[in-house]
Amino acid sequence: MTLEREIVLEGVGVHSGAPVRLRLIPSGSGRLLFRRSDLGREAVLDPRRMEAMSSSSLRAGDFEVRTVEHLLAALSALGVGSLDIELTAAEVPIRDGSAAPFVRAAQEAGRRRLGIPWAPLEVSRPGRVEDKDASIEFEPHPGLSVSYEIEYAHPAIGRQEISLEIDAGTFAAEIGPARTFGFVRDLERFRRLGLALGSSLENTIGLDDERVVNPPLRFPDEFVRHKVLDLVGDLAWLGRPVRGRFKARRAGHALHRRTVLALLGRP
Ligand SMILES: [Zn+2]
Repeated sequence: MTLEREIVLEGVGVHSGAPVRLRLIPSGSGRLLFRRSDLGREAVLDPRRMEAMSSSSLRAGDFEVRTVEHLLAALSALGVGSLDIELTAAEVPIRDGSAAPFVRAAQEAGRRRLGIPWAPLEVSRPGRVEDKDASIEFEPHPGLSVSYEIEYAHPAIGRQEISLEIDAGTFAAEIGPARTFGFVRDLERFRRLGLALGSSLENTIGLDDERVVNPPLRFPDEFVRHKVLDLVGDLAWLGRPVRGRFKARRAGHALHRRTVLALLGRP
């Protein structure tokens, strides 16, 4: 599907801090194309161009688009796979730190079915990627099912676990609104590395050593829900709907990326 009409969203990049204008332009191409109007260049979403560090980014030589995961999560959950995504700077606007602004905008614009067949990628047999105590297991399943478990030695988080079937409805209600979180004690170090320059209490759940500094939370387990959001956004790099059951433990973008590459290597 593509969108019925164009959407424009403005904001700042959470890492760069740079102001940016995002245009989502309906397209019949059957793919997601990123265009940087500031550079006059473009690149198609391609999992071999995926870079996963503190966020997920598209890199093709010196062309980059940073922090695409929340936008891609919203588009893939709503089944929008044909769009030109134009930006005036290198990073997608963070908005409120969740996928809700993208979901809302896409729902308001309306979606249009194209005559292009969009075959899902089916997980055909069980597999696993891991790194120390983090892991993601995947296995065949008729829809997209995600279980996620996190554990932080922090009084506001602790151990959280969630498991659900992802479709447009469950994503919009249960996962899309969950915001990014960050620890105040890490902020200085991130900023010295040139990261989180646009991060604020308007777009991040902030945590000091004991509590959430900008309550209320949108869900008691908003933290693990945001991890599901990030995984849905990272699986969207496969460029088609995914059918499989995913069980993630203490994972993050790097392991999400390895899952994408594992699935690419074994369709
Ligand atoms: Zn995120």
